[in-house]
Amino acid sequence: MASIFIGFVFALLIYNLLLALNGKSLPFAVNALVGGSSALVSTLVHNQWLNVYQHQAPWWQAQDLGLTVIPPLLLLSGAWLARTLLPTTEQLQHQHRRLSQLLVGTGLGSILVIVMTAWFPAAAQTSSLLLLGLGSCGLCIVLWQFYRAGHQAVLPQAVSWLILACGLLYFTISLAVADLPISKLSPDNVLLFASAVQFFMLTLMLTRRSQQIDQQKYDNLRQQHDVVVQLKSAEAQLVHRALHSRTTGLPNRTLLKEVIDQIIEQGKVPEFAFVLISLNNFHEFNKTLGHSNGDAILYLLTERLLKISEQIPQVLPIESSEEWSSTLAAVEGVNFALLIEHSDSESLNLLIRSVIEQLETPFEFDHLMLDVDAAAGIALFPKDSQNGEHLIRNAHVALEMAVNTNTKCAFYAPDIDPYNSRRLSLLAELRSAIDNEILELYFQPQISLRDQQVTSAEVLVRWLHPEYGFVSPEEFIPLAEKTGVIQPLTYHICRQAFGYKKALEKLGYFLHLSINISARNLLDPGFKNRICELAAELDINLREINLELTETAVMTDPDMALEMMAQLNSAGIQLSIDDFGTGYSCLSYLKKLPVDEIKIDRSFVMDMVNNEDDQMIVRTTLTMGHNLNLAVVAEGIENEDTLATLAKMGCDLAQGYHIARPMPFDAFADWLASYPLQLGADSASHNLSATGMSHSNGSKRP
Ligand code: C2E
Ligand code: CA
Ligand code: CA
Repeated sequence: MASIFIGFVFALLIYNLLLALNGKSLPFAVNALVGGSSALVSTLVHNQWLNVYQHQAPWWQAQDLGLTVIPPLLLLSGAWLARTLLPTTEQLQHQHRRLSQLLVGTGLGSILVIVMTAWFPAAAQTSSLLLLGLGSCGLCIVLWQFYRAGHQAVLPQAVSWLILACGLLYFTISLAVADLPISKLSPDNVLLFASAVQFFMLTLMLTRRSQQIDQQKYDNLRQQHDVVVQLKSAEAQLVHRALHSRTTGLPNRTLLKEVIDQIIEQGKVPEFAFVLISLNNFHEFNKTLGHSNGDAILYLLTERLLKISEQIPQVLPIESSEEWSSTLAAVEGVNFALLIEHSDSESLNLLIRSVIEQLETPFEFDHLMLDVDAAAGIALFPKDSQNGEHLIRNAHVALEMAVNTNTKCAFYAPDIDPYNSRRLSLLAELRSAIDNEILELYFQPQISLRDQQVTSAEVLVRWLHPEYGFVSPEEFIPLAEKTGVIQPLTYHICRQAFGYKKALEKLGYFLHLSINISARNLLDPGFKNRICELAAELDINLREINLELTETAVMTDPDMALEMMAQLNSAGIQLSIDDFGTGYSCLSYLKKLPVDEIKIDRSFVMDMVNNEDDQMIVRTTLTMGHNLNLAVVAEGIENEDTLATLAKMGCDLAQGYHIARPMPFDAFADWLASYPLQLGADSASHNLSATGMSHSNGSKRP
């Protein structure tokens, strides 16, 4: 019988040691020590018991060092095992203290017992077994307290020590009272049995625990993997949406421009035509049949034009990947673009006219015969322009010409370009407009969606031209960028903005200012120093200045841009990615940029409450922005619903006409003084509780 238990314990011992060595798991090693010493104690007792019968001598007369030293060792390793497996939460501090006290007590007791061995060997042995009995009970009680405190996993440990304690108790009682009715069970076998059961239970508990840990590790890895997959697919979706039309799914203007520039750069096609086709009467379908029917018609006509374009032998692909391919692009509104390799204008003219004719074939929709009215404008590479942006623009001019003269198809020519003279005069006057301080700065507030406080304002430049009236920055900033006037213009804007910031501070408003900068600024090696000089001159804290730049600006020359961004960042300036979602939206690249904030482009925000696609982009951008630890700003908020939805989604900052339109400095100061009364002025009711703030404390950006 005894040898079965010993064999069993031995097998368990090997199992524990193997797991300890294989997985470098400390608990299994400690458990091997516990089980090993427990088995040794019982075996030694068993041998002694045999001695008692063989030599008719009381067992306590034996002088066995093993029986003195091993019981304390068993207790110490048991307490140690319990200590390594228990969580150290604050809630369990008290029980931990008990366990530590037990450990110390056992340690001291063990030393005492070992010291005693030298003088009173028999007494030492008795004390050692007594210590084991008491210690087992103590461990059992402490572990029970852990169990009661909610740590369920310790129950098997507590029970295993209870079993050992019971074994020891039975053994002692059987020795003391020889005629015990239950003493038919051999006491040494009972002890062997108890220690084997204890070892088995501890091993079982450890095996389950290690399986749970493995499962948890596996689950964590799976979770991490799922997050990465989710992020990747969200990123792919963002990139796809940024480069495709939301209504037709065709490549959009951004992608088209990139493709044209690539074709030009590669030089494989010496001459090609950029053809812009417009559905002139489309707004009538929308007006008479409603927007959802309008969308269905647009879809039908897009399909038709796509099929026609695919049949043109000289057509150049605009997108050709495994997943997506198209020979047609959608340029804002109901304008479509084709790229056609050509050498002869006459045959091109005939080809495009036949395309228009096919497109204009009347079609039936909802039992109605509908007529299509289309026209085309053509710009040629390299004759009319040598870059994508300009070709598109020139084709627009030609299209306008075709529509106005009802000729259906027109080629670009500089003398029909009515914008040329205006462009030239604006270009000539921009410099003097800067010098004569004709340009004015407008301010558009940004509020925190957490507490509705005004935290910052975007600085937007305005040009009131004596002849043309209001000239949009969207018209003159690209001109300034092309001619290099953007450098003095940006410095001028910064100097003025810093001056206004000081004026705001005098009024008690400590707001951050967001200033727009261009690609050219990033490529100017002296840019950071110049900004720092201006800030020092006007005593401006650069930590309260935010520079907004687009992804396209960064991509012009990523290495130089990154270097300048790092410099600006180290000067304390915050950087923000403007118009996010319209450019490359390459989040893996964004991770490398030293930016603090992203601004979701207004085209996604303006109609997000009605457009699920837009809302999805906003949500994805928010999740990803926050994942990258960036603050997210939504611009283009035009109504209360959008503001409330964004607040619910966890967006950080809000900007838009619904909060306030851009305004000159004095109007902005008045607006600040009466804020938050204006919030929601455009709508009948608003859900966001505006705080009773009159002077913003200029709280830090989130
Ligand atoms: P942006 O940086 O995206 O500026 C935001 C534009 O959105 C501003 O147009 C602003 O008036 C407009 N906006 C603000 N809230 C709403 C809204 O709720 N709905 C709608 N529909 N629009 C809203 P703005 O002032 O015409 O500026 C156009 C662009 O010109 C700017 O776009 C920026 O790219 C450029 N720009 C403006 N000022 C400067 C400047 O000082 N320096 C540079 N480099 N660029 C500037
Ligand atoms: Ca901006
Ligand atoms: Ca923007």
